[in-house]
Amino acid sequence: MKTEMAGIEIRDLHLSFGETRVLTGINLSIKPGEFFAFLGPSGSGKSTLLRAIAGFGPQPRGEILIGGRDIATLPPWKRDVGMVFQSYALWPHMSVRDNVAFGLEERKVPRAEIRTRVDEALALVGLSHLADRMPNQLSGGQQQRIALARTVVIEPKVLLLDEPLSNLDASLRVQMRRELLALQRKLGLTTIFVTHDQEEANTTSDRMAVLDGGVIQQIGTPQELYDRPVNLFVARFLGTAN
Ligand code: ADP
Ligand code: MG
Repeated sequence: MKTEMAGIEIRDLHLSFGETRVLTGINLSIKPGEFFAFLGPSGSGKSTLLRAIAGFGPQPRGEILIGGRDIATLPPWKRDVGMVFQSYALWPHMSVRDNVAFGLEERKVPRAEIRTRVDEALALVGLSHLADRMPNQLSGGQQQRIALARTVVIEPKVLLLDEPLSNLDASLRVQMRRELLALQRKLGLTTIFVTHDQEEANTTSDRMAVLDGGVIQQIGTPQELYDRPVNLFVARFLGTAN
């Protein structure tokens, strides 16, 4: 599998659901290959922002560039992004191999190439031996690894992860966090990781944006945010104000 690194630029993005304003004046620049976290409490707009980048939900106002190309009006499948959700949403009636192959078949990739790429993606998540299982024969952690394989196999330029570990129990979550980071480093894939868990953001991200009320409160490395939170919200949310 090949990986192409692309940065993400978001300029003055606004988004409303009808009369309800959900994102306000979002400006963001994510470097190629960066592991970037959106951190914020429930309802702060993290998923909405991620989905706007992926092309789901209402059309936002503003610019979204991936690798310098404005993608804001393109349909999701033309944006070079891959997204993994909290619930794995594997096709229950398809084997692991067929689940991973599905996106490539949709894209009319030649059969021999599909086989190679699926094998590679399964090896990447360490689950080659489960290729012929059905999803209901897998643990939660294994299902989420397959969901990841299914996403990276389409060779996106950007990987979008919406609370991908939240359904896993605590000890597995820590292990999967490490695996996810190792995979991201190996592929060098520009990644946005959405979480409400400050420790999760802190231990994975190169930089993060803290959101509250649909507004970015602060952007920086975990260290910068801990050392110099710009306001009480950030300080409280990161647990540095007592
Ligand atoms: P987070 O992912 O940070 O928990 P969301 O992006 O899901 O937050 O939601 C941000 C805000 O947008 C919330 O107030 C939520 O109620 C609202 N919202 C999300 N989806 C919809 C929708 N489809 N219709 C109306 N409001 C929505
Ligand atoms: Mg969410």
